[in-house]
Amino acid sequence: MSDPVRVLGAGPAGLTAAIVLAKHGLEVEVYERQQRVGQRFHDDLQGLENWTTEGDVLKELAQTGIEVNFHCRPFLGGRIYNPSLKPLDVNSAKPVFYMVKRGISDASLDNGLAQQAIEAGVQLVFKKVMLKNEVDIVATGPRGTRVIAAGITFKTDPRDRAYVMIGGNLAPQGYTYLLVSDGLGTIATVVTPSGFNRIHECLEGTIQTYRELLGIAIEDPKRWGGYGNFGILSSAVEDGRICVGQAAGFQDFLFGFGIRIAMISGSLAARSLIHGVDYDRLWKARFLAMMRTSRANRLMYGGLRTLAYNFL
Ligand SMILES: Cc1cc2nc3c(=O)[nH]c(=O)nc-3n(C[C@H](O)[C@H](O)[C@H](O)COP(=O)(O)OP(=O)(O)OC[C@H]3O[C@@H](n4cnc5c(N)ncnc54)[C@H](O)[C@@H]3O)c2cc1C
Repeated sequence: MSDPVRVLGAGPAGLTAAIVLAKHGLEVEVYERQQRVGQRFHDDLQGLENWTTEGDVLKELAQTGIEVNFHCRPFLGGRIYNPSLKPLDVNSAKPVFYMVKRGISDASLDNGLAQQAIEAGVQLVFKKVMLKNEVDIVATGPRGTRVIAAGITFKTDPRDRAYVMIGGNLAPQGYTYLLVSDGLGTIATVVTPSGFNRIHECLEGTIQTYRELLGIAIEDPKRWGGYGNFGILSSAVEDGRICVGQAAGFQDFLFGFGIRIAMISGSLAARSLIHGVDYDRLWKARFLAMMRTSRANRLMYGGLRTLAYNFL
């Protein structure tokens, strides 16, 4: 009998790789350093983006063998504010993104994927420390901190909605957002290093601004923090180990969308192992152009000042 495929990290990238491999009949073990999946998150709402391809992300995931067994609501648009709080409404016939929950709750994306992995026969091993050179796929999340986020989750009225504010004093070179789905709300501010030492002040201001703008009810708020990174590696195979998701720097440079690219990179890693295809060739064909565009957007966005934001 051959050795199992070993995956380090049970986030969306590692779990997707594991599900695809196990559905192909391979023995798979996933090692997660926490005692359960989703502990990096706080039951906050996140968007599974659906605008970077013409096809639907859920269809793309279904083709790789991933089902929707988690909270997942289509959003056809939302409102974007510039730093002067001038609104722009975005509406689309096709969902712009799907709202998912991240964290330890039953309906979270993380728990849904863990459930699918278990059903496919994957062995999930918690609280076990493994070295990267003992595994085949590295899916350990961010390797550094290029952006930080601070936020709250809270209870509110059940009307689903999404708002984003770009740049300005509340999110230097970053953005803030307010998302509501099924009576659960998330407000967060995301900043680059120039705003790291002001993050708590930025969050306070963000909550206050959304309250004043929208009159939103905020009940039982719970605070949290997060971080992320992005980068373009020349190769995402290190010493023979395949890196997926944020462990490979795969994330949108501008607005931090990383779930879809993490899951698709996991499926490509599985495909590479199953069919013996070069992983770098697969991810570069699927993401490289998109990542270069998002890097250019980030450089432009970082260099803009308020007047230019208003124009944008
Ligand atoms: C506040 C915040 C908001 C976000 N909002 C969005 C959004 O709206 N839309 C979007 O698309 N993306 C969003 N992202 C980014 C998105 O969450 C990530 O890109 C995505 O989770 C990456 O998946 P991953 O599997 O690569 O890594 P992770 O989700 O970080 O999973 C990595 C897993 O590996 C485990 N691990 C780490 N080290 C080890 C080790 N040594 N051994 C074993 N296990 C280990 C961790 O505990 C974790 O479970 C957001 C991120 C943050 C922080």
